[in-house]
Amino acid sequence: MTLDDLRGIVGPAHLAEAGAIEPRYLVDETGGPRAAPACMVRPADTREVSAVLAWCNERRQPVVVQGGRTGMARGALPLDGEVVLSLERLRAIEDIDATAGTMTVGAGVVLQAAQEAAEAAGWRLAVDIGARGSCTLGGMIATNAGGNQVLRYGMMREHVLGLEAVLADGTIVSSMNVMLKNNAGYDLKQLFIGSEGTLGVVTRAVMRLRPPAAGVQTAICALVDYADALALFQRLERSLPSALTGFELMWRDYLDHAAVHTGMAPPFDRAYPLYVLVEIEGVEEEGVAEVLGDALAAHVIQDAIVARSERERLRFWAFRDAVGAIVNAMAVVEPFDVSIPMARIGGVVAALRDQLLAEVPGCSPLFFGHIGDGNLHLALGLPEEALRPIAEAIVYDAVADAGGSISAEHGIGLLKRQWLGHSRTSAEIGLMRRLRGMMDPNHILNRHRVVEG
Ligand SMILES: Cc1cc2nc3c(=O)[nH]c(=O)nc-3n(C[C@H](O)[C@H](O)[C@H](O)COP(=O)(O)OP(=O)(O)OC[C@H]3O[C@@H](n4cnc5c(N)ncnc54)[C@H](O)[C@@H]3O)c2cc1C
Repeated sequence: MTLDDLRGIVGPAHLAEAGAIEPRYLVDETGGPRAAPACMVRPADTREVSAVLAWCNERRQPVVVQGGRTGMARGALPLDGEVVLSLERLRAIEDIDATAGTMTVGAGVVLQAAQEAAEAAGWRLAVDIGARGSCTLGGMIATNAGGNQVLRYGMMREHVLGLEAVLADGTIVSSMNVMLKNNAGYDLKQLFIGSEGTLGVVTRAVMRLRPPAAGVQTAICALVDYADALALFQRLERSLPSALTGFELMWRDYLDHAAVHTGMAPPFDRAYPLYVLVEIEGVEEEGVAEVLGDALAAHVIQDAIVARSERERLRFWAFRDAVGAIVNAMAVVEPFDVSIPMARIGGVVAALRDQLLAEVPGCSPLFFGHIGDGNLHLALGLPEEALRPIAEAIVYDAVADAGGSISAEHGIGLLKRQWLGHSRTSAEIGLMRRLRGMMDPNHILNRHRVVEG
C-alpha cells in the first residue's frame, strides 16, 4: 500500500509509517499488547479527517480512532495493519458564547484545557474525570464518559448540545446545534455519543456550560460498613436536596494503596473499612457540618473531616485520583467498571473479594467507585495474563446475577466485547450490528470493538 495519498492529505510531518510510529500511539492505559499498525496520521481538521476516511473506505482499510488514549476498554489500542487516526491536532477552542453558556471545540481539546477556558469566561464545564490532563472531549463523547459529578450534572450526553462527525465513507454530518431544544427530526448526535468510534469520527462539538460552582464543600468520612454508606447517602440527598455532586466510596484496600502511591498519610489516625469522599455544592460549611454531625451522633459515620482550604480539598481528591498511578504500577491489570443497583453493591463486593482471592491466585482486588451513581470500579492486579478470563468470568457473572451492567462508563472496546451478552439481549446486539453495517458497510471503523460487524 502506498501512503503518498495520505501523506498528501495530512502533510509529511503528520504521517508516520509503520516502524516509525512513536510508542505512545501504540499503547493505552490498560497495558494492552503492542501491534504493528500500517501507519499513523494526524489530520488538522474535519476536511482532512473526511479525506483520510474516504481514502481508507475505498481500499477497505481498517482505521482505529484515537483521542488521548486514556480509555480503559482498549478501544483506541491499534491492531495489526490499522491506520491510526489521531484527533490530537483538532484542539481549537473555537468559540465561547458567554451569554448563552456554550463552548465550541475541536474533538482533540483536552478536558482540562476546556475546563480552564470555561472558567476564564466565567462559566464551568461541569464534567470531570481523573484523566482530565490527557483525555480529549472527542474521546469522552465517544465513550459517553461519566466521572465525579454525574450525580448532579449527568454523563457526557448531558453536556453535548451539538456535534460534527465524519462517517466511514468521508461524509461530514454537521449537527452543531447550540440550543437546549431542537426536536427537528432525529437527534443524530446521540448516535455518536457512546458509540466508541464505531459509527463515525467526532471532529467538533458544542458543549453546554453551567454557572461556576458556589460554596463547594468537600469532606472525607470514615465508615464501618456498606449499610452505613447507603444511610449517609440518603441523609445527604434528603437534607441537602440537589446539592450532592460527588459520593466516592473507597474500600480500605484501595485507600491504603492510594496513600502509598501519593506518599500521603491516610486521612484518619486509625484505619476504617470504608471511606467516602463527599462533595456538595451551594451549601455553607455549617450546613454540611450539621448533617455530618447528626450522622456522627447516629453512628452512621465514625469520623469526618471537612476540607478547610482548597489545598485540603485537593488532598482528599488525590486519594481518589491516585487510581492512575495504582493501575500503572500493576504488572497486569483488569480495570473493571460495572454498575450494580446501589443497595446490592456492598454484598457483591464482599462476595467478589472472597471468590477472587480464593480462585485467582496472587490477584489483588481494589474496590472503589462513584457509588452515588451505582458505579463500582475494581482495579484488579493479576500476576499473569492467563488469569484474566478467569477473573472476568467471576466478576461479570456476579454483576449479571445482581442485575447490573458490565460497563458503567468506560465502554466495551476490545476488552469486554465477548461479555456484551451479559448485559444486552441478542435483539439489542443484533440492532447494534445492523446500525453499524448501515453506517459503515465496509466495516473500516474501529473494527472488532464493541460488536463484530
Ligand atoms: C486516571 C483515569 C481516570 C479515569 N476516570 C474516568 C471516569 O471517572 N469516568 C469515565 O467515564 N472514564 C474515566 N476514565 C477513562 C477515560 O479517561 C475515558 O474513557 C475518556 O473518555 C477517554 O478519552 P480519550 O480522549 O483518552 O479517548 P481514547 O482513549 O483515545 O479513546 C476512547 C474510545 O473512543 C474512541 N474515540 C476517541 N476519540 C474519538 C473521536 N474523536 N471520535 C470517535 N471516536 C473516538 C476510541 O476509538 C476509543 O474507542 C479514566 C481514565 C484514567 C486513566
